[in-house]
Amino acid sequence: MSEFRSSNFIHDIIDEDNKTGKYGGEVVTRFPPEPNGYLHIGHAKSICLNFSTAAKYGGRCNLRYDDTNPEKEDMEYVNSIEEDVHWLGFEWDKKLWASDYFPKMYEAAIELIKKGKAFVCALSPDEMREYRGTLTEPGKNSPYRDRPVEENLRLFREMKEGKHDDGSLVLRAKIDMASPNMNMRDPILYRIAHADHHNTGTEWCIYPMYDFAHPIEDAIEGVTHSICTLEFEDHRPLYEWVLDEVGWWNPEPQQIEFARLNITNTVMSKRLLKGLVDENIVEGWDDPRMPTIAGLRRRGYTPEAIRDFCDRIGVSKANSEVEMGLLEFCVREDLQSKLESRNVVENPVKVIITNYPEDKVEEFTIENNGKVPELGTRTITFSREIWIDGEDFKEIPPRKYFRLFPGNEVRLKGAYFIKCTDVIKNDDGSIREVHATYDPETRSGSGFTGRKVKGTIHFVDASNCVPIEVRNYGYLMVPDENGENHINPESIEIPVAYGEPSLMNAEKGERFQFFRHGYYVADSKLFEEGKDGRKVFNRIVDLKSSYRPK
Ligand code: ATP
Ligand code: MG
Repeated sequence: MSEFRSSNFIHDIIDEDNKTGKYGGEVVTRFPPEPNGYLHIGHAKSICLNFSTAAKYGGRCNLRYDDTNPEKEDMEYVNSIEEDVHWLGFEWDKKLWASDYFPKMYEAAIELIKKGKAFVCALSPDEMREYRGTLTEPGKNSPYRDRPVEENLRLFREMKEGKHDDGSLVLRAKIDMASPNMNMRDPILYRIAHADHHNTGTEWCIYPMYDFAHPIEDAIEGVTHSICTLEFEDHRPLYEWVLDEVGWWNPEPQQIEFARLNITNTVMSKRLLKGLVDENIVEGWDDPRMPTIAGLRRRGYTPEAIRDFCDRIGVSKANSEVEMGLLEFCVREDLQSKLESRNVVENPVKVIITNYPEDKVEEFTIENNGKVPELGTRTITFSREIWIDGEDFKEIPPRKYFRLFPGNEVRLKGAYFIKCTDVIKNDDGSIREVHATYDPETRSGSGFTGRKVKGTIHFVDASNCVPIEVRNYGYLMVPDENGENHINPESIEIPVAYGEPSLMNAEKGERFQFFRHGYYVADSKLFEEGKDGRKVFNRIVDLKSSYRPK
């Protein structure tokens, strides 16, 4: 599925390993989410990288839940993760759970204790911090560091048996309290947590720490290349220490770090995204403004567009921020030749064509996609009263405005030329309706060449249209003058809108181009539940952009 067009430094490492025969030509990767939230577009980068790297080398990629943190994990997240990975177009070789290895991890810990490489420590978290030292000063050995092996074995067993309270004891590696790498200063391997685990229930009340669990998970599964993000670079010595000291696996998996994806105008951490959900700043993990896979899916993004994006951003060792414009560019590229167009007017203005017969209705055939004839045609109707887009009428036109204004003539796309003759106002000065005349000679498709007009606008027939709810989204976050992101108070706009009647029959998730407005999708969740029974359409992206990929 979707192989990376471009090679990257990780593939170079694998090529080298294949040359030396380090893993006998095998390539096994894994995508290892912690089920403590919904996946976001950053995870998509990791998913594409892991699955397509395995595919490129004829290897395997597993989905593994890194479920070693019972307090924050939930089956809702597990289910969403599977849906999202599948939706992106990938199939895992095996679905695995880190929690299935708890017995093996426990044995590995015993092994370390027996070798004198781990000890049970009773320092409080505050004391532990104090003993840890700083980046410039070495730490101090814990007073419990030299407990005899037998005592460590007994205490660790008691921890497992539930004889000690949360936080009272931990198992720590015995490495080097003076190491310049803080991660090597006798890191914690196991903690006590009397918590209900979604997979193992209350069977365990001790849980392994990430740095101990992860290398063991990889090794048990025969992972060859364990790809993770750059923050773990300083943890790699510990990853290798655990494998070397436990010593059960040969060859050992190798950890390779790449830069995590950051995108402008959004946040990309499950913790922050969960905050937005919990504080009701968005309507849930799948709110169309969210950078989650579920949010992007509801927003109308396609898996093709997201995979293309992940391919274009590439894989590197340097952290950087990608412009949201690139993601939008990718979805436009994907959709532009796939979608039928529909006429929709926002903040509409009514136009009465005063010289058109009152009870006459004409039908016009128009192309569904001007650039793709294969997408066929459809019929729209025209009569004396029409709605045009609020943007397409100005009582006092600005410079270079070629749309409708008093005295000006425009083409109604697919119908006639009309000329504005009058503006009728309400008592409060707002525009009630615009009067115009049409020229019967100018019927679309008649070959009329008498004169040209500069502006073409679209319309819907007032006697044959439906109100719909269009949700126009802005960015979730906007930067202030210091470049710091803040929640955008105007991240959603819902104008009054009318569209062609056939939009009522759209299927949930069906996409259209709303002529001159953007690409839209019938909301997969709330399609039927707009205000006053209107059907809900999300704006995926607008049509135009100044963004050009480099
Ligand atoms: P977050 O900080 O958003 O909670 P995480 O790294 O804690 O992310 P995990 O569920 O542990 O989330 O991540 C699963 C995999 O996805 C890991 O291999 C992780 O490195 C990768 N990943 C997470 N965020 C990004 C990102 N922004 N860009 C690339 N890969 C990412
Ligand atoms: Mg994490």
